[in-house]
Amino acid sequence: MKFEAVTLDMAILDFPTAAEITALHGAPLRSLADTGTEAVAGIVGTSAERVRARLTKTAGVKHLQAADDEDLRECLRVLRCWLTDPASYTSSGATPKIRRPEGIGQLPVPRTVKHAHGDMTCGLCADPVKAGDVVGRMRNPKDRLFVPMGWLCAHCLYERREKPRRRDVVLRIFHHFFASSAAGLNAHECDVLRIWLTETEAPAASSAWREEPLNGTLARLETSVTEGKGTTWIPMPTSCTIISALLDAPGSSEAETAILGAVAQHLNEWKTNPRGIEARRYGTGPRYRAAVLNATDRPTVLSVRGGPFDLHHTPSSVTETADAVDSTQ
Ligand SMILES: [Zn+2]
Repeated sequence: MKFEAVTLDMAILDFPTAAEITALHGAPLRSLADTGTEAVAGIVGTSAERVRARLTKTAGVKHLQAADDEDLRECLRVLRCWLTDPASYTSSGATPKIRRPEGIGQLPVPRTVKHAHGDMTCGLCADPVKAGDVVGRMRNPKDRLFVPMGWLCAHCLYERREKPRRRDVVLRIFHHFFASSAAGLNAHECDVLRIWLTETEAPAASSAWREEPLNGTLARLETSVTEGKGTTWIPMPTSCTIISALLDAPGSSEAETAILGAVAQHLNEWKTNPRGIEARRYGTGPRYRAAVLNATDRPTVLSVRGGPFDLHHTPSSVTETADAVDSTQ
């Protein structure tokens, strides 16, 4: 028993902490998954092969070979749990069962859903996620324009289009702009944006609104809410005006102000290219924006997560026929 305790202590001492796991990239993640697997096998008295099979199942990963950095980080968090508390190796955590919203607020079925094995932050909204909270990953985007999102909180997995927060709408505008697209908002998101733009006088009094009045946009948001539309498209220049006008709106929470400020900063950097990214190498689209974002000298919650992310559109089967006309605007 004494020998096992010593082995256990040494294994934990050598193994990265939660913060170190978050900071790791590439090959070291893979080799730590191997050494961690061997260490757990030694401590619980089984083969590395069995530990590996249990590891992929617990971390929600099909094969270790196909795992990306985000999946490997989760593998390391699981291994760290087992090394810290070997009794947890045999306890089978039940898969969380969550009802997905229906209709225009529905998001696709996640690739994997589980209880978090360690503290982290959401890969989309950046909210803290505690060990034991529901987390999951969406399937990899089919369109290679988009990059895969990391582990998402339960709100971002299921509810961000059914019960959108103001931050969710801002994130949607950001990632659509990033991908060179108009922002597609469903009626719930239109309602949140409409209220935010009109509950005080400040947005309408902003210089951004005075230069490009948003009255027509407000009317379209209202129509979307009244008709329960699946998608209403907000053109890219209007998205910029909306962000600038909202920055002048008092009463926004600290988190809302922070995300608005980050979006405004990156929109400006994409326009001014302060680090002199060689635009010829990247063109003017998402690849250029990703390079500028990556090179920022003022990192934000958005720049560390990257993108653009595919935040999902309402499928046409649940979209009103009138949207076919709307989407061409
Ligand atoms: Zn989230």
